[in-house]
Amino acid sequence: MSRLVSKALRQQVAARAVFRCEYCLVPERFLATTFHVDHVRSIKHGGATVLDNLAFACPHCNQNKGSDVATFTDDEGQNTIRLYNPRLDDWGLHFEVVNGSISSISPIGMATVKLLEFNQPDRIIFRQALIASGMY
Ligand SMILES: [Zn+2]
Repeated sequence: MSRLVSKALRQQVAARAVFRCEYCLVPERFLATTFHVDHVRSIKHGGATVLDNLAFACPHCNQNKGSDVATFTDDEGQNTIRLYNPRLDDWGLHFEVVNGSISSISPIGMATVKLLEFNQPDRIIFRQALIASGMY
């Protein structure tokens, strides 16, 4: 199965996301780096390179997510919960933004905030600046 995302498919993914990261909602045009096309369900977990399995992601979110699809909810490693899926889930049912920080309002949100490290200090400061200028 191909991992390659064609230029046309990338454009479809980006346009559907309105050129924002589908995980942290930061707009691509304000970052100095090119956004990635994420396989929501990674190839090693059986995901395909098709529009319904792809998401537009900033480098921070994509690198932290990697090929993960779930994480542990307890220190003992007995229980797991899947990550937020932009193709299935409504962002507003899992997260809220408070002073530039992204808070979880569901267990899926909590797992995703933690794993994707949404609230690293520099990311919060960046979102605060975007909010102050009406761009987030
Ligand atoms: Zn992001």
